Parts: sequence; structure tokens; C-alpha cells
Amino acid sequence: MGNVPCAVKPCLSYQQLLREHLWIGDSVAGALEPAQESAQLSGFPEYVKIVEVGPRDGLQNEKVIVPTDIKIEFINQLSQTGLSVIEVTSFVSSRWIPQMADHTEVMKGIHQYPGIRYPVLTPNLQGFHRAVAAGATEVSVFGAASESFSKKNINCSIEESMKRFEEVVKCARHMNIPARGYVSCALGCPYEGSITLQKVTEVSKRLYGMGCYEISLGDTIGVGTPGSMKKMLESVMKEIPPRALAVHCHDTYGQALANILTALQMGINVVDSAVSGLGGCPYAKGASGNVATEDLIYMLNGLGVNTGVNLYKVMEAGDFICKAVNKTTNSKVAQASFNA
Ligand SMILES: [Zn+2]
Repeated sequence: MGNVPCAVKPCLSYQQLLREHLWIGDSVAGALEPAQESAQLSGFPEYVKIVEVGPRDGLQNEKVIVPTDIKIEFINQLSQTGLSVIEVTSFVSSRWIPQMADHTEVMKGIHQYPGIRYPVLTPNLQGFHRAVAAGATEVSVFGAASESFSKKNINCSIEESMKRFEEVVKCARHMNIPARGYVSCALGCPYEGSITLQKVTEVSKRLYGMGCYEISLGDTIGVGTPGSMKKMLESVMKEIPPRALAVHCHDTYGQALANILTALQMGINVVDSAVSGLGGCPYAKGASGNVATEDLIYMLNGLGVNTGVNLYKVMEAGDFICKAVNKTTNSKVAQASFNA
């Protein structure tokens, strides 16, 4: 493929073009392609659901404000990759998060494909009703296991936040709208340092108890290790079945994939990630982005775990958004796959 004349290039599919830029040949193509079923390793789930959080968690924490039409195009591209869940935006006040001020336009502007879910974050009832009016059919509430982080991030105590979430989830249930719960700082807090297992478990249990169908345990600042992930999950899993848990890992200390692998071995099969490792956390200094979706898929392909997601198409969407926000990708797989 390396010697295809330029004139022929427009005739090739994007996948072929991508392959042309790959420095690795077909025979040693690593885990760019999904593994055959026979390659499935024992001790891992057969299927992992990837929750793509790039358009929300990623872009919310990028310094530049991405134009609305670019966000819409980005989400529409992600819808073509095989992803089954794409978190679209956040119905928070634009005073708090100006990057998400166009939530209604984005929600209304995207093409919602059948079979794909497009959850949005809703901090309170007002946000919930706006989200539903804009066409949202799934919502998330976002709590924290750290009192200080809760105050900085959502401007209220954990207890106050739980009361607001109870209202949102109750209303959502009445309307048959699934609600997901996030627990930030599950493996550490930028203000309080380590967080007790008891607190993480307590907040998770509360969210699950109020009716969240899935609890996403977030290492918001990326300080966790496989050791702390294991201990935290052991504690939370005493109260919540693994099928209702997800992990959400940032890669600040380079531990995200190792932490995810640990979670998979413990029976978790839902993982949050962001294309190109977009994001960070405005309230957590030095926190780098989410684990890159590309890198996660590469690892899962290598384990023989099915995701239903096409890695090439994800790389294409990642390339699109990185160019739009003028940054280089944080995905190691994308870096290794494209010529510099
Ligand atoms: Zn995050």
C-alpha cells in the first residue's frame, strides 16, 4: 500500500488510506482489528460497552470553546463508529461551564441514530426539563465522593447534591428516562487527597438506591493505581452488583489502562473513555484527559473482547476533533498509527 500513486488515493476507502499511513504492516498489525472469537481470553468479559464521553467530559475541559457545528459534526461522526453510547453535552448553567452553553443547539442539531443512546448531564430539575425539551432520552447526575470537590464542582455539599439528584431521578423514572450516576473522586481528590472506601461506597449506594441504573466510578484526577482500583471496587461491589458499575479513568499518572484492566478482571464490563483522550478537569490542577477511546479499543481487541466499535472510524473522528481544537492527540494508538 505504501507506493500507491497520489492520483489513485481519492479512489481508496478511508480505511485503506489510514492503512497506508500506518507504519506497521498487515502481518504485525497488533490489535487494530477486532480479534476472532476464538482469541477470547478467560477471565475477561466477552463484551465491553464503551461510553464515549469525549463530546461532554472532553470538550467541557478543553480551553478552546468549540463551535456548535463542529460539535454536531463530531458527534455525528462518532455515531458512525459502532459506539452504542455517546454522552452529548451538559445542561449546566453557562456561567459555570461556558463550553457547554450551546447544549440545546447541540442536542437538537445531532442526528440521533436508532440503537445509539445519547445521554446528557443534568445537575438539577431545571437542567433535566431543558434536556428533555431539547430531545434528550437519557440523563446523568454527577455526584462526588469528596465534600470539597462537590462544593467546587457543583457548588453544594454532597447531601444537598443527593437531594437534587433524587428529584431528577424520580422525575426521570416517571418519564421512563434512564438515569446514570457519576461518582467523582472515587480514587482521590485534588483537595482532600485520599478518599475513604466507605465514602465512595456510601455515595455510590445512594445513587444506585435512588434509581440510577448504572454507577460510573470516576478517577477524576487520574491518581489511582490497579491496587487502589481493586480495593475501591471490592468495597463498592459489596453493595452494588458489577453489572451496574462502570469505570471512568483519567490518565494523569499513566495508569488508566492498567486500572481498567483490573476492573475488567473483577467483572466490570462498562468503561467510559474519550476519543483522543480529550479533556482534563478545571477543578483538578494537572489532571489530564480521559483514557483515549482508541487506546481502550486497541487493548480490548488484543484481549479478544468484543466492543462493536470500529477503531479506524474512531481514529477518523479523533483526527477531526483534534484538528478542530488545534491539539495533538493524546491517544498513543493514534500517534503510533499515523505518520508524524
Ligand atoms: Zn472524566
